[in-house]
Amino acid sequence: MLYDNLSVSENGHLCFAGYDTAELAARYGTPLMVLDEDRIRSRCRVYKHAMKEHFPAGSMPLFASKALSFKGIYAIMAQEGIGIDVVSSGELYTALEAGFPPGRMYFHGNNKTDFDIRFAIQSHIGYFVCDNIPELEAIEQEAAQQDVTQKILLRLAPGIDAHTHEKINTGRIDSKFGVAIETGQAEELVALALQKPHIALCGYHCHIGSQIFEHTPFCDAAVMMLDFMAQMQRKYGYQAKILNLGGGMAVPYTEKDPTVDYSENIRKISALIQKVCREKSLDVPVVLMEPGRSIVADSGITLYTVGGAKVIPDLKNYLMVDGGMTDNPRYTLYQSEYTVCAPEYMHDTPDMHYSIAGRCCESGDLIQENVPLPKLNRGDLLAVLTTGAYNYSMASNYNRLTRPAVILIGDEGPRVAVRRESLSDLIRNDV
Ligand SMILES: *Cc1c(COP(=O)(O)O)cnc(C)c1O
Repeated sequence: MLYDNLSVSENGHLCFAGYDTAELAARYGTPLMVLDEDRIRSRCRVYKHAMKEHFPAGSMPLFASKALSFKGIYAIMAQEGIGIDVVSSGELYTALEAGFPPGRMYFHGNNKTDFDIRFAIQSHIGYFVCDNIPELEAIEQEAAQQDVTQKILLRLAPGIDAHTHEKINTGRIDSKFGVAIETGQAEELVALALQKPHIALCGYHCHIGSQIFEHTPFCDAAVMMLDFMAQMQRKYGYQAKILNLGGGMAVPYTEKDPTVDYSENIRKISALIQKVCREKSLDVPVVLMEPGRSIVADSGITLYTVGGAKVIPDLKNYLMVDGGMTDNPRYTLYQSEYTVCAPEYMHDTPDMHYSIAGRCCESGDLIQENVPLPKLNRGDLLAVLTTGAYNYSMASNYNRLTRPAVILIGDEGPRVAVRRESLSDLIRNDV
């Protein structure tokens, strides 16, 4: 099986985190997002321990909560003692409501509104990751208004191509995120930040992309960032304390994908940072990382019920499920690969090939194409693996479909972490 928390019972049922998925579907209904809490926690610990071991005191992972955001996930991150990044007042509010300490929150995004900035400062957020000059001015103004000194990092584009899919490649200089080192705009932002009386510049941030299997792009980015750090120290006498290397470490979605050793990657990145700091006579900065996908993706699966099959002779077989792009838009957005299986028939021969179609009124509403599966009929279940990241958090109500329930399987067994949306939820804001 793709992961060690998946197994097959004697009767051929797929088990996830020790629970029969058919029983979970019967108990909670479909579409259903099921999460393995122990696995989420152990991933947090892998990052936390490796970063503690290899980087200076204060270094830690920040869970990139855009990957999966609801109160329960923030409670887990609070208990694990790591930080989080948020990109909206909505994520910030959810985390606060879950009791997450605001001092360990980092506010990201390329367009923070005046409301976001005010709400975050009022909430005593730890840091803003400031994206551009107008935003810096807005943070200064609001911090002055509230009579506080606001800590910030600056979002820089180090110009690294992380050899990943175009739409999730964010570190190049033509990115909508941050300011480029290469063009001189990063320096301009530093110089300006240092003049602001209500802003404490604490360091730099970069995020080079997502689903990166190698450690080398992170090392390349770190070199660029440290070089910039050294330059700013020479020119402005400003020594940055924090280097945030962003998220992006990969997870395997199919058997073809390699597994990534996160702590080994961290060790290698650390070795390089120490070497470069020695060469440049820099103090080794506190290092932050922002894993999203690699914390939660392979801790989640989605269960659907098949509505029927449509066989188009000599062309294609469709299998229709009771969800689709409304709970998993990633195939529609970037043709992402997933492993799909028939959780009640794990011992059967996959003698059919199906395209898995959602129920939205879009022909592009597909979960995956050409999937080998046994013959399935209306009422059978379908499981999509590795859906913990960027599925539920990207879910929508298109076609007025209700968002699925989220189940967390923890030490005490499965529990509802987010209720299934009801029909009345759909009209709660309609006047
Ligand atoms: C998306 C994002 C992350 C998380 O990336 P993953 O690939 O999920 O680890 C971290 N930081 C920033 C700024 C991001 O935009």
